[in-house]
Amino acid sequence: MSVAVRSVLRRRHDHYAVCPQDGLWFRPLYTEGKCPLCGEAAPGGEESSLPLLLRVDRFGLGMAALALSSLAMVALVLFTYFRA
Ligand SMILES: [Zn+2]
Repeated sequence: MSVAVRSVLRRRHDHYAVCPQDGLWFRPLYTEGKCPLCGEAAPGGEESSLPLLLRVDRFGLGMAALALSSLAMVALVLFTYFRA
């Protein structure tokens, strides 16, 4: 196995933690540093929280964008209707 592939695999493996209570492998980044089954803190310390773009509620942003585009479409239709 090449060095590059090995380093990628090691880096990927570093993001995981195993719970000593139930042996579950999980990613503390997405579980706030706790085991999703028993709530035990991840061994090796708590990982930093998610980056800002992953913490933002993208569903809410999508709904806001949809509402804005709907309003723009209504305005365009009304403008076209009353102008003609
Ligand atoms: Zn656990």
